[in-house]
Amino acid sequence: MHVHRVVVIGGGFGGLQAVHKLRHELVDVTLVDRQNFHLFQPLTYQVATGALSPGEIAYPLRTIFKRAHNVRVLLAEVADFDLDHRELQLHPVASIPAPESIAYDTLIIAGGSHYSYFGHDEWSEAAPEVKSLESALGVRSRILSAFEAAEAEPDPERRAAWLTFAVVGGGPTGVEMAGQIAELARDTLPHEFRTIDSRMGRILLIEAVDRLLTSFPPSLSEKALESLQGLGVTPMLRSTVVDVDEHGVTVEPAGGPSERIPARTIIWAAGVEASNMAARLGELTGAEVDRAGRVSVEPDLTLPGHPEVFALGDMVRVRRPDGSVLTLPGVAPVAMQQGRYAAEVVRARLRGAPSRPFHYLDKGNLATIGRGSAVADIKRLELSGVIAWLTWLLVHLWYLVGFQNRILVFIRWSFSFATHGRGARLITDPAAEAAAREPAAR
Ligand SMILES: Cc1cc2nc3c(=O)[nH]c(=O)nc-3n(C[C@H](O)[C@H](O)[C@H](O)COP(=O)(O)OP(=O)(O)OC[C@H]3O[C@@H](n4cnc5c(N)ncnc54)[C@H](O)[C@@H]3O)c2cc1C
Repeated sequence: MHVHRVVVIGGGFGGLQAVHKLRHELVDVTLVDRQNFHLFQPLTYQVATGALSPGEIAYPLRTIFKRAHNVRVLLAEVADFDLDHRELQLHPVASIPAPESIAYDTLIIAGGSHYSYFGHDEWSEAAPEVKSLESALGVRSRILSAFEAAEAEPDPERRAAWLTFAVVGGGPTGVEMAGQIAELARDTLPHEFRTIDSRMGRILLIEAVDRLLTSFPPSLSEKALESLQGLGVTPMLRSTVVDVDEHGVTVEPAGGPSERIPARTIIWAAGVEASNMAARLGELTGAEVDRAGRVSVEPDLTLPGHPEVFALGDMVRVRRPDGSVLTLPGVAPVAMQQGRYAAEVVRARLRGAPSRPFHYLDKGNLATIGRGSAVADIKRLELSGVIAWLTWLLVHLWYLVGFQNRILVFIRWSFSFATHGRGARLITDPAAEAAAREPAAR
């Protein structure tokens, strides 16, 4: 008997939900990912600031599905699609052998997104982001080694540059990063250095528009701004970054002359771009691709002319039944609901049942700023301060994959709350760190 073969690309938020929903169905599921773990991206910034360890926010895909006997996990990178022959071309990851291709009856693609440097990819070396575990660990080494370098630097100007941290982008990740660096400098490090006072560090949060957290109501943006200022962060609104290198950032304030800010640690948290797979699917099917690289899918999340291929999550926009195109926020709940929806459509089809168009249920928006401080916009209920922070903690613990991780993170957060400590403050690859900074230093 031919068992229906479902291939899911991406073990992120969307793909994981799709596989989860199909694990008891009479289908063969293959989950293809180029990494062997699911990463809880909403907490990577805590790895980047030493609050959490990598293993606490990532979980092996094989472990997640070890009891789902119809699910196979395949470590490989998807290189291309042969939609006519219903096949994927694969590349090995880090020389680990993988099949060259894999066939499917249904394909679910959830490849996510990456940060966009707005046409300046050369800035990525000097201004890394915190989307992947590897980059978060790189940022952690940079932040911590900047304090070490400042401690050893006799020249006041150069020391000030080491103690200046510029975060680019005032969305949730930028706000969270700036808040965490401020807490690190003010609460965790002060008694550990002998020459420098880590509290003298400048933390800049650079945002091009006139408020932070534009996906929240203006009143909550204002609250977030005040909380950040209370932590010692300097928000620079209406300021566009026009150049970045290893020694600093050049900023152009609206209507003013550009300003060069010496800063040895720059973190990029501005703008995302869909996985390259989205553009390729647009090319192959004629589906529209927007400026952020997202491909437009039909109301049931399939590609035009290919009802057997679903695409979802950060890499898509969705066509409404009336033909207009809806851009949903690039957040985990969208990807998760879409993953579950795609699996439900597959199940319905196998039973010969009809399915309705995808509908997103918006449960709200959360962002944390620091200890006891967050903002939440939940169905027009605007929360800030401790209540919002507790909501944020509960929601993140709830969605974190793996019971063990939930317990570990809960203990870690409780301990940090009581002691202001950060247990994962390790500079793990100082040689690579120095090499990354070297070219511009010459
Ligand atoms: C720093 C940061 C903080 C965030 N904070 C929040 C938050 O607080 N709340 C919130 O709701 N959302 C947050 N988000 C957004 C959220 O993480 C994304 O919206 C969500 O991950 C999208 O899910 P996805 O399934 O589309 O993609 P992802 O979760 O990114 O998964 C994509 C998967 O596809 C795999 N993949 C990609 N290309 C290939 C390929 N060619 N071959 C094989 N595998 C491939 C990747 O390895 C990855 O596992 C944050 C994002 C970032 C970067």
